[in-house]
Amino acid sequence: MSLQERDKKHLWHPLKQHQLNPDSMAIVKAKGCILTDEDGNEYIDAISSWYTCVFGHCNDFITNRVYQQMRQLDQVMFSDFTHEPAVKLSEELIKILPQGQNRIFFNDNGSTAVEASIKMALQYYFNKGEKRSNFIAFEDGFHGDTFGAMSVSGLSVYNGPFEDFLMDVKRIPVPNGENHDEILTQLEEYINQNDIAGFIYEPLVQGAAGMKIHDAKGLNAILKLCKSSGVLTIADEVMTGFGKTGKNFASDYIETKPDIVCLSKALTAGLLPMAITSCTEEIYEAFLSNDIAKGFFHCHTYSANPVACSAALAGIELLQTEEIQNNIQEISAAHQEFSERVKLHPKVKSTRHIGIIFALDLNTETERYGGLRDKLLKFFMDRGVFLRPLGNTLYLQVPYIISKEELSKVYKVMEEALDAL
Ligand SMILES: *Cc1c(COP(=O)(O)O)cnc(C)c1O
Repeated sequence: MSLQERDKKHLWHPLKQHQLNPDSMAIVKAKGCILTDEDGNEYIDAISSWYTCVFGHCNDFITNRVYQQMRQLDQVMFSDFTHEPAVKLSEELIKILPQGQNRIFFNDNGSTAVEASIKMALQYYFNKGEKRSNFIAFEDGFHGDTFGAMSVSGLSVYNGPFEDFLMDVKRIPVPNGENHDEILTQLEEYINQNDIAGFIYEPLVQGAAGMKIHDAKGLNAILKLCKSSGVLTIADEVMTGFGKTGKNFASDYIETKPDIVCLSKALTAGLLPMAITSCTEEIYEAFLSNDIAKGFFHCHTYSANPVACSAALAGIELLQTEEIQNNIQEISAAHQEFSERVKLHPKVKSTRHIGIIFALDLNTETERYGGLRDKLLKFFMDRGVFLRPLGNTLYLQVPYIISKEELSKVYKVMEEALDAL
């Protein structure tokens, strides 16, 4: 029996209506940008397996480092113990994180990184004896699938059964270069209620919303206003972190720096699940007290797993090489050229790109899952490209190590899909 058949007996996949869509493709190996299925077919991974494997799959530099670490120290509790990979990772991260970040707290996925950031902001004010229990977030933001993360996410795709249980969160539109005054007025109104602990945002690019890019100046004005009223700013860089936007972090494009940063996805170069919530020294200090209960009592069993830390360290080292930095610039330039060509296509409504992220909106409306979206997915897979449309948005987040030939093929197949529409 094929893996695809055996899969159906006991497995339950995420983001799937199994009755309508029972098949999952079985992947048996991956190397560089190429995924190979159980029938031997190859696919270019044009979204870096959900924005994680940015240095390519099974990257030898990273797997060797991880292998060495596995033989040295596999796992130890991070409550009471510490170890070289975590210490070193904190040192390396602080060097590249947005200015002001000074403390590294470990989680194990993007949602829990966000969850911890929400709890940090709430307890920061609790410890100070100030009652602030509300948050502000962007409309259409996505921050994860646990309850706190779902609450701050504006994009509530199929959250129906849970809506009654979510925190009350105030929403503002993303800045588009024209709605500046309107947003600031609304924001001021919310802030004047005096109960806002934090503002959480995906800096510059909203991933799940369809790689929507917003105005950096407008975001900066929002952050400045938050800062002036003690509203903690939480940059969810889970998707944008580690070079995706052409800089190490999207926050590097914005003058006003966040108080808290959430990281995951490319953090471990796609090798192991891990996440980080970093913060300023000022936030950390609000948890210091002779009262034990003022400490941050939030923990995940695998916090700072040494093997995951070693993958992250190897990834950060690669990210800073001239070769990878050049690749990112070259992909960005190629996207620019492709964008200018493809935006003239009659089936294309608009295009946008930043760093290695490229997206185009189709002229037609389609559902987020099902319908035309499923047909497009099949069209791409049949031609050897793994591209995952989001509603009527086609987007790319190619690995930094993609070859010119592979990237040309991805563009070509996108254009073929447009012609076939
Ligand atoms: C993917 C994502 C998350 C959630 O991360 P998980 O690891 O899937 O829980 C949170 N925020 C952003 C911006 C994301 O892209």
